[in-house]
Amino acid sequence: MKRSYLIKPLLDEQLPEIAFGRGIFLYGADGKDYLDGSSGAITCSIGHGIKEITDAMNEQAKKVSFVYRSHFTSKAAEGLADKLAELLPGDLNWSFFVNSGSEAAETAMKMAIQYWQEKGRPSKTAVLSRWRSYHGITMGALSLSGYPERRVRFTDHLASNPDVSAPYCFRCPFQQSYPSCNLMCADDLERSIKRMGEENIAAFIAEPIVGAAGACLTPPPGYYERIRDICDRYDVLFIADEVMTGMGRTGKVLAIEHWDCLPDIVVLGKGLGAGYSPIAAAVASDKVMKPIQEGSRVIMSGHTYSGNPQSAAAALAVLKYMDKHSLAEQAARQGQQLREQLNGMQQSFPFIGEVRGIGLLIGIELLNNHDDMAPFPKQLKAGAKLVELAFRNRLILYPASAGEEGGDGDAVIIAPPLTITSQETADLLKRFRRACNHFVQWQK
Ligand code: PLP
Repeated sequence: MKRSYLIKPLLDEQLPEIAFGRGIFLYGADGKDYLDGSSGAITCSIGHGIKEITDAMNEQAKKVSFVYRSHFTSKAAEGLADKLAELLPGDLNWSFFVNSGSEAAETAMKMAIQYWQEKGRPSKTAVLSRWRSYHGITMGALSLSGYPERRVRFTDHLASNPDVSAPYCFRCPFQQSYPSCNLMCADDLERSIKRMGEENIAAFIAEPIVGAAGACLTPPPGYYERIRDICDRYDVLFIADEVMTGMGRTGKVLAIEHWDCLPDIVVLGKGLGAGYSPIAAAVASDKVMKPIQEGSRVIMSGHTYSGNPQSAAAALAVLKYMDKHSLAEQAARQGQQLREQLNGMQQSFPFIGEVRGIGLLIGIELLNNHDDMAPFPKQLKAGAKLVELAFRNRLILYPASAGEEGGDGDAVIIAPPLTITSQETADLLKRFRRACNHFVQWQK
């Protein structure tokens, strides 16, 4: 088998071939079962092989799979937009469908820039972002991303740099601790706005809980309330990138709902199609859409496959399934159970530095030495090693970045499908414990 399209295979040897998936398990062609402890790339949030979804997709395919969005709309696309308007908080009512999280982040940028143009303030074009963030791999989304390892080869082509510090309590960039810090990391947005000039700034984008670039960094209470206040005072739109955190993963539809803060635009992906079909969305509030509707009346973006009925039917079936089985609530329950048990493993495995996150989005930062919080040296690739050892124990984890910006530091993410049961959680922990024992052997 050729593997020329695989950029970074997990194993040095030939990757196993997958035969089929059922629930939280994937089955190799050799009959081995793999527990999907990270829902792939935090994507397959309702599990694999669900008949209701494949039936809905088949039904749609029998009618029509593709129409071009300038020619026709479809029941599937309209139904999905309606369902999102019903599920999302506040007046986030206007969905623009694309095919990947990166495209959705770029669309959100364009919506924000266009909003200010239509309001007669065309100088407001910059989008501020944080270090320790990831918004996508295309050049625009990568420009916003505070992820040095992914930026470094392309810096000549990136339009901007992140400028705002991350809310990273475990290694506070201001050497403070909560609550005496008085949320200095949130106030860093105000510093950045003043430095750049509010007349130049369209929006601030952030992942409510930082995913790949920080292994589930969870800002403290009050953080996003402060961010909202700063954005309002300086006429800056707030874009919540919920590609990884959204659609029930943290126990609420959006992770930002854990704070009292309503974004102006939301970016969705991953769990929206839940791996059944590529689909993502930038969803704008009434406030953002009003001047656009009264002005040019069209969002200047779009891709050939935007809003195709096939992907829309899959995503609509996924959202209905989530509702029917109360999966956000299940994520909250199972997430708490899993986090407590992982915390309990710290004593036996001191390399578990911090267990963080909300619901079924759990990050584990690894430490080489607990006493001085030293990370593993970069060249040891400790995070990748733990992911590999888990894989050999047939548990899939997701590697993530942590530690000093661009320096040493390792982490993994555990984020199984929201459908995981207590028994399956016990199985996940058993496999993880085995991987941790192998990791301790490797450390020696
Ligand atoms: N935004 C966030 C928060 C993500 O985690 C990702 C992907 O990991 C993206 C955007 C980009 O999504 P995609 O890989 O679908 O382009």
